[in-house]
Amino acid sequence: MESGLYVVATPIGNLDDISRRALATLAAVDLIAAEDTRHSQRLLQHYSIATPLVAYHDHSDERPVRRILAVLAGGGSVALVSDAGTPLVSDPGYRLVRAVQDEGHSVRPLPGACAAIAALSASGLPTDRFLFEGFLPARAGARGNRLEQLAGETATLVFYEAPHRLGESLASMARYFGGDREAVLAREVTKAFETIRRDSLAGLLAFVDADSNQSRGEIVLLVAGRRATEQEISRELADLLQRLARELPVKTAAALVAEWSGVRKKLLYDYLVAHREPQAPG
Ligand code: SAM
Repeated sequence: MESGLYVVATPIGNLDDISRRALATLAAVDLIAAEDTRHSQRLLQHYSIATPLVAYHDHSDERPVRRILAVLAGGGSVALVSDAGTPLVSDPGYRLVRAVQDEGHSVRPLPGACAAIAALSASGLPTDRFLFEGFLPARAGARGNRLEQLAGETATLVFYEAPHRLGESLASMARYFGGDREAVLAREVTKAFETIRRDSLAGLLAFVDADSNQSRGEIVLLVAGRRATEQEISRELADLLQRLARELPVKTAAALVAEWSGVRKKLLYDYLVAHREPQAPG
């Protein structure tokens, strides 16, 4: 096989969620760099793959990186896996990928499972724009600051969450984003107790409070972005507003269009103020 580092996605639960190319690559490389060699050994055994493993973590010392670079320098190939899903997505690998590239070797992705993308695909929330936030800070103060910064974000937000912090995080999200903001709890995705539930943040909090099983296992939390006011105003409505505002006071223009269209007056007024056209001279 061609020399290089192969970044290989592995299953996030269901062991069948791995590509034939990934299995062939894991069997053919000279060495597999793994976050936890014992954990990855179980996956390899399941597929009768006997490739040697080396432990790699972004915080580990230089030795594994030197060993991997030596294999590549000798024309060999190495695969990088993490415990589950796509390496580097809230998982180790960033330092290794850069080190390998900097030495002039190729780095190739073998795509596959990723909890964030799997959860997003079945969430029922908008997917045209999303923001992957990974894990929120563990400390309550730092977590609150982060959520405060995200409150105005209009893209769908995707978080990884530890089970013991789920209730606390839902409560903080309800505080900063509003309890009626739509959200999705995606738990144990691809596993026996898979749960994908869409509700308001307040509704999800009540759901989790009522059943302690819902805060077990592995969790992705997705939160709808703030509804953008401008997205609610069509281009035709915006044109009409601007035309009327050339002849009438802003307040009157907003009131007339609100009456005609059913869109909230305050929304139209704010839009006009934000998009005021320059007055013609004279
Ligand atoms: N690299 C992985 C990926 O591609 O998804 C993520 C690794 S991160 C250390 C582990 C976190 O991913 C878990 O704490 C959980 O938030 C999420 N996760 C992993 N597997 C999951 C699953 N089957 N269902 C729901 N969330 C999962």
